[in-house]
Amino acid sequence: MEIAIIAHDGKKQELVEFLIKNKVLLTSQNISLIATGTTGGKAEAEGFKVRRMLSGPLGGDAQIAGRVGEGKTKMVLFFKDPLSSHPHEADINMLIRVCDVHNVPLATNAATAQLLLNAIALQS
Ligand code: PGA
Repeated sequence: MEIAIIAHDGKKQELVEFLIKNKVLLTSQNISLIATGTTGGKAEAEGFKVRRMLSGPLGGDAQIAGRVGEGKTKMVLFFKDPLSSHPHEADINMLIRVCDVHNVPLATNAATAQLLLNAIALQS
């Protein structure tokens, strides 16, 4: 199952802590991680194997949206920072819309992301 991880700059530390907390599940064989560029680098620094797309502002969110549309990415954990503005707001909204179009689970904060991973853990 391919899971996308994305974190805005103000949320990257929170995402790293979330990844470490969920390391056993996220490094299990049936899960592969995909990420926007900088987020992916942070995850790699913690020992995660990640397929890295472009950085978000350079089109990484749009690339992930494409994979959601193609049915490749099955879940999106997007640690959005609601307290800062982003030059690529259009891409962010597009990713959210594509998840809704294709009924793909999308978390936009850590609490929801944890609930989604808990649901996967129960299934496996
Ligand atoms: P980044 O992109 O991981 O390359 O910083 C995230 C984003 O801003 O969408």
